[in-house]
Amino acid sequence: MLNEYVFHSHTFRCGHAVKDIEDYVTEAIKHGYKKYGVSDHVFLPGVIQERVRGDYSLLGEYIDEFKRCKALYENQIEMYLGFEAEWSPYYKKYYESLLRDRGFDYLICGQHCGFNKDFEPFWYMTYELDKQEQGLLRYRDDIIEGIKSGLYLYIAHPDLFFMCCTEVTPIYAQITKEIIETAIEYNVALEVNIHGILREKIKNGIRYEEYPSDYFWTQAAKTKVKIVYGGDFHNPEEIVRDDLAQAAEDLIKRTGVHLTDISLIYDEYQERLKKLKIK
Ligand SMILES: [Zn+2]
Ligand SMILES: [Zn+2]
Repeated sequence: MLNEYVFHSHTFRCGHAVKDIEDYVTEAIKHGYKKYGVSDHVFLPGVIQERVRGDYSLLGEYIDEFKRCKALYENQIEMYLGFEAEWSPYYKKYYESLLRDRGFDYLICGQHCGFNKDFEPFWYMTYELDKQEQGLLRYRDDIIEGIKSGLYLYIAHPDLFFMCCTEVTPIYAQITKEIIETAIEYNVALEVNIHGILREKIKNGIRYEEYPSDYFWTQAAKTKVKIVYGGDFHNPEEIVRDDLAQAAEDLIKRTGVHLTDISLIYDEYQERLKKLKIK
């Protein structure tokens, strides 16, 4: 099941991934994928973050390249155009216009950073333990607003906030609970991030919970929240890495997670966009 679909996949445009849409899609076809969603880090008007996301000027070319590949491979795989996009109220209209007017099929929420009202990015997480709380709470608030916005197919790596966690203290437990409960209430799925499995858990001799977090997914598995997986591929070679697929399967087994059919989630999402009058 882990090699049937992906809705989380990047291109060279973000500055920290390699190769282009066609390289990923042809690799996926070779390995029997049925659905391929391209979701590079969203290009934001007025924001330059080198090696984080591509420049806004790339938008038209990204869309054109997707359309070219979709036409070329339509008999072999279903393709979907998306972005991995941080929630921010300042970008709500822009995101809606991508879905409504620019042919985007979906967005996933990958909350790497937040934005202030001057469109300046800020990072939530810090390795300085005594300074973590404020960032964690801002992360929680933004993720929860993102879920409520209805704009997302699913929430990518909702457990990203464990990246600097040395111990699951009450604040980590509380945020876990709130994210899961909100996702259930608004019927938005959460993603086990397969790429996160490559992240080093030990840095400078200190062990971090990191993501995907066993704690987070064990808690999620006890509830009826919908869960999907996301490859988060940054190199076509990752599509065929058996060690990644195996590590993801191990995590799913260890935490008791049950995956929901992506087609169901996709259909519910399209219905939601119709209700919001975006589609
Ligand atoms: Zn990335
Ligand atoms: Zn991400």
